[in-house]
Amino acid sequence: MYRYVGNISDLSHDIIKNYVLNKDVAIDATLGNGYDADFLSKNFSKVYAFDIQEEPCICYREKNVENVEVINDSHHLFDKYVNSNVDCIMYNLGFLPGGDKNITTEHTTSLESIRIGLELLNSGGIMTICIYRGHNEGKIEETCILKYLKNLPKNKYGVMVQSYLNRQEISPMLVIVEKK
Ligand code: SAM
Repeated sequence: MYRYVGNISDLSHDIIKNYVLNKDVAIDATLGNGYDADFLSKNFSKVYAFDIQEEPCICYREKNVENVEVINDSHHLFDKYVNSNVDCIMYNLGFLPGGDKNITTEHTTSLESIRIGLELLNSGGIMTICIYRGHNEGKIEETCILKYLKNLPKNKYGVMVQSYLNRQEISPMLVIVEKK
């Protein structure tokens, strides 16, 4: 087991825990099995969690986590549900582990959501994006998302990528965006 070079989801949690300036409001843009929502609920006062699939939404609501509002809708519609700025936004793209692999995040809505999310992000806030490149749509997401983030003004956003150098090229990657 590696202490640092392990799982990119755990790494995203550590980065958020240590570097987000204020831990008031967070968004889990892809609820899925709820591991990120659980993490955010323990570290932020209020969490909005989105998923287009009804099942993960029902499962998470049944847990009755007081500070997590579950929204059964797409993350490109943040504006419709989130009426404040936020301090953190997490994306774990791709399909639901253990679920239907044909239902996956898509580059058009992922990109639109990231664009809107960066507007919602407070100064000192962080967005993390786990990209899974082992399936076709994931490869397209990687290309589009990196192209978009590469062109963000560096006086306003710091953007960093963490990937495994000695694993397969399709291994997952973590993108971190910090707003100045
Ligand atoms: N964060 C999750 C966790 O901690 O278990 C894992 C997320 S899983 C890799 C991706 C999830 O994104 C799936 O449950 C899928 O239904 C959801 N999803 C796909 N497209 C979406 C969209 N446009 N908006 C919100 N969620 C979406």
